Formats: sequence, C-alpha cells, structure tokens
Amino acid sequence: MPKKTIRDLDVRSKRVLVRVDFNVPLKDGTVLDDTRIQAALPTIQYLIDSGAKVILMSHLGRPKGKPDPAYKMDPVARRLEELLGRKVKKIDFCVGPEAEKAVGEMAEGDVLLLENTRFYPGETSSDPEFARELASLGDIFVNDAFGAAHRAHASTYGVAEYLPTAAGFLMEKEISIMDKILKEPERPLTAVVGGAKIADKMSVLLNFMNHVDYLVIGGGVANTFLKAMGYEVGKSLVEDEKILSAQEIIDSSKMNGVKLFLPEDVVIAKEIDPNAETKVVPVDSIPKNMMVLDIGPKTAKKYSEIIRSSNSAVWVGPMGVFEYDAFAGGTKAVAEAVASVPYSLVGGGDSAAAAEKMGVADRITHISTGGGASLKYLGGEELPGITVIMEKDPDKVELKN
Ligand code: ADP
Ligand code: MG
Repeated sequence: MPKKTIRDLDVRSKRVLVRVDFNVPLKDGTVLDDTRIQAALPTIQYLIDSGAKVILMSHLGRPKGKPDPAYKMDPVARRLEELLGRKVKKIDFCVGPEAEKAVGEMAEGDVLLLENTRFYPGETSSDPEFARELASLGDIFVNDAFGAAHRAHASTYGVAEYLPTAAGFLMEKEISIMDKILKEPERPLTAVVGGAKIADKMSVLLNFMNHVDYLVIGGGVANTFLKAMGYEVGKSLVEDEKILSAQEIIDSSKMNGVKLFLPEDVVIAKEIDPNAETKVVPVDSIPKNMMVLDIGPKTAKKYSEIIRSSNSAVWVGPMGVFEYDAFAGGTKAVAEAVASVPYSLVGGGDSAAAAEKMGVADRITHISTGGGASLKYLGGEELPGITVIMEKDPDKVELKN
C-alpha cells in the first residue's frame, strides 16, 4: 500500500500537481472513450471539494517530443468540463511563463489542465530540468496515473524528486485490488491467461505460480504450450524461442501445486478472416496448413466450470481472435464465467476491450485502467510510478494536523 494517499494530506489552498492518465482514444477532435477520464474523477473531485488548486497533467498518444496538433489536450479538457460540471482551464504549455501565470491566477477549487507532457522531449527522457520546472508549478505531487506507472518519465517519476508525493484514489484502488489478488485472495483463485504472445505474459505466468490455484491457458499463448507438449500446431502463431519457457511453466506448476489446463479442442481456420471457414478439432489433430484461432467449445465449457467454481479470478489475455465473431466463442464463455466470480480482476488492454465487447464489464469487480502497467504489476515487477509513492520519505510530506 502507498505510504501516503491524498486523504493524509492537507491540500487546502495548495497547488496540487496531479499526474492523471488521460491517454484516451480520440476521433475527429472528440474523446471516443472517456473511461480513463471518469476513473480520475474521484481524485479530482476530492481535491476540488478540499479547496486545492488542481493542476492536471497527462500524456496523450505518442507525439515525438514536440507539439503535434493531433494530440493536443483540448478535447480532453472539454470532456472533463462536462463530467465535472465546472470550468476547466486548458493552456498550450506544461512549463514556462504562461504555465506559471495560469497557476498564479488560480483560486481554491480551480482546475487547470496542462498541455500534453509528451510535447516536450524531457518527458520520456525524464530530464531532471523538465521535471524540476514541472514540479515548480505545485506544492504537492499526486500520482493517479496507474496506466503510466510503468514508465519512469518526468511527469510520473521525475517530479517526485522535488515535491511531497502521494497516491491518488485510482492509483490506490488499482494497487489494493491487485495486492488483494496476489497476497490474500479468497480461494480458490483462478488465473485465465491468453492473448497473443507468451513473451508479454511470461512474468505474469511465472509470478502466478506462487499465487494461484488454477491456471487456464488459451489464445496464442496456448499454441506454444501445445507445441511444447509435442502437438502439431500448423501455421498458428507460435514462439519457438519460448518453447522452453512454456516447459518451465508446466514443470513449475507441478512443483507448486498449481493445476494447469491447456486446450483439449480448438477452433481452426486457414486464415484470420471474419468469413474464413472454421472447424473444431481435438488438439492432436491440427492440420499443418491451418491456424488455431480460438479454444474449442469443449475447452470453453471446462474452463468456464473451473472459473465458476472459484472465489477469485484474474484474467489477462483473450482466448482467441475475439475481434471476429467466428473466433470469439472462447473469449465470450470465459468473460461470462469471470463475471460470475465474486472477486474478479481484468488486466491487459485487449482483455478489457473483450470484457466490454462481451457485455460483462459492469459485473467485473475491477477492470484495470492500465493494460501494460497491470501486466507488469501482476508479474511482480517494480513500477517506477508506484515506487515513488511507496518510497517517498513520509517526513517530506506535509500531513494534516
Ligand atoms: P492483452 O492486451 O489483454 O494483454 P494481448 O495484447 O496479449 O492481450 O493479446 C490480444 C490479441 O491476441 C488480440 O488482438 C487477439 O486477436 C490475439 N489472439 C488471441 N488468440 C490468438 C490466436 N490463437 N492467434 C492469433 N492471435 C490471437
Ligand atoms: Mg494488448
């Protein structure tokens, strides 16, 4: 748990510099999906209600260290204004005289949104000078950008060097839910791992060996496991250089008493095409010229039963190419099963999209707002944006009296 959250701080009249994750999809100058803005509202509203001067900063997309009209924060400011029902001032800079002037003019409860932090090359390089300039705008730094916590950038990490630092409510929630799953889950705990590549899921798979009761595997990840078991997988997505890693997981599951399940049947096709002719075959009968694109119905039923018998579930990675209905059956079955578990967590960006698509999102305990960050955290890796909150000397933080 973070040492300090905003609840511990006296923020009245203070300039609170908040790193949020407003990296949202845009279309024609409007916000296409405001999930991440909504997720930051509790922190922002709390700071407004507490009489802070709320200075928000975020990156958006991947501009290359210089201003790019396609990635300006203006559409985000307009949507935030609608959601908060109050004025949000937006400026075209993050640092410099105009930023200082705008901050100087703020009253208690005002909200200011800085420009895209990635318009400055010092953001991704975590240039100490850029971080110091950013930090000079605030009295306190609050990190609420869980989705950017795996990056040691100036606005997620560098500024903490210069200011008292605390976690926002979203950051606190993301960390506490993942810690609950990893440290004190209601058992049995089932992990559902799929998605495109083992390489992206290796740290999660390894870490889960110390935590979960059941592990069910699907998606492209399963193909490499099947190959490691000696099955022909045809033209499927497979990572030959990860076959040993897959074998390592199989061995480790036995040593750790983790019950590991691989597909028994699969949906195959000649190509990834919405109209491709599909077939269901047992895993020992995959033709050389075909690709595995989903788990089969028998496997989907078995996985559902395992998941439904659990008291906690964590899901990272779709079971097939769920973007096309022909290969979405396994992901749909798993999504519905995960949603029926009392304590459920979805990590991974595409899994979050799959949960939405399958209409179960509102029945999941928590869908992480940070795809890459959640995979790293669940994999037991250190996230710089969380480290700064955990390790910040609490004496430096001004406490409520
Ligand atoms: P997440 O973002 O949830 O971590 P990934 O990014 O690892 O998930 O993987 C998601 C992608 O994996 C989806 O676009 C899906 O189409 C693809 N995928 C799933 N199963 C297969 C498969 N058998 N073959 C090829 N691609 C697959
Ligand atoms: Mg993904």
